[in-house]
Amino acid sequence: MSDLPTLDTHIDIRWPNPPDPVAETAMRVDFPKMQKGGLRAAVFIAYLPQGKRDAEGHAAAAERADAMLAHIRGRADGKARRFCATAAELEALYETDALGVLSAVENGYAMGRDLSAPARWKAQGACYLTLTHNGHNEIADAAIPRPELGDAESEHGGLSAFGRQAIGALNQAGVMVDVSHVAKPGMMQAAELSHSPVVATHACCRALCDHPRNLDDEQLDMLKQTGGLIQITAMMSFLNKTPPNGRYHGSVEDMARHVEYAVARIGLEHVGLSSDFDGGGGVQGWKDASETPNLTRALRDRGYDEAALRLLWSGNFLRVWRAAEAVAG
Ligand SMILES: [Zn+2]
Repeated sequence: MSDLPTLDTHIDIRWPNPPDPVAETAMRVDFPKMQKGGLRAAVFIAYLPQGKRDAEGHAAAAERADAMLAHIRGRADGKARRFCATAAELEALYETDALGVLSAVENGYAMGRDLSAPARWKAQGACYLTLTHNGHNEIADAAIPRPELGDAESEHGGLSAFGRQAIGALNQAGVMVDVSHVAKPGMMQAAELSHSPVVATHACCRALCDHPRNLDDEQLDMLKQTGGLIQITAMMSFLNKTPPNGRYHGSVEDMARHVEYAVARIGLEHVGLSSDFDGGGGVQGWKDASETPNLTRALRDRGYDEAALRLLWSGNFLRVWRAAEAVAG
């Protein structure tokens, strides 16, 4: 096992009928692959596909989120695989030989207009909510609208009035605010409004690759100003512009290049790492969790020492998580 406190902050699972990660699977992440690659802990996502924004759609999404969170937590046995519901539990995990299982919810669509949802998710152990996915919801405009679902280019002009209340409810519950997928105006507003720093759990730098899911320099500067964090992710289309032949490409070296850019712009303490494995992520050198040492090596090659690697791999995320817990009521 690696001595580094490694944490991957965004991994999807298949739903329904997820393969059991306790044994080797065809997925990019399962416990044997984490063990092999020294990936100590992972945030598994209860992801809600965007659907109809009516009472029925919202209720179905909320129900699915609860079922997925229960499933994720259920894969931990409290021994070799420990569920971590708090920053302190994750820190304690790193002192053991066990693997860490964390959970989060992706897409505030699961909240509908229910301000009690964050407290319920917190009770189930979730550490963050990604405010949107692709497609606007009741909380905010998405960076990628879904015209086929009736989305205009912009609906709320950032956060909605309900979205502002939702951030209050997340703060109150001690659930981190994930601004990945959120359109720039809402992302900037969320960073200013939230009482604890926000995190973009899976995104890259727009200055290096002009993709709507990436954060531009103003957004990075906002993260620095507000104590927030960008978790550079292993998504090829976010790392490099698609060449004319349309074949995406990307490698751990490209990830290290985005890390270096973000660190130069806003400082080491505002940057971290994620894969988006089993949700489209995977690059040359980090195709699954078993290859995790290759990313560490690419970062070492760029001059990051042990202290820096510890911050990138989990120290910064732990800081933001602790801040979220500190403002909870
Ligand atoms: Zn996502």
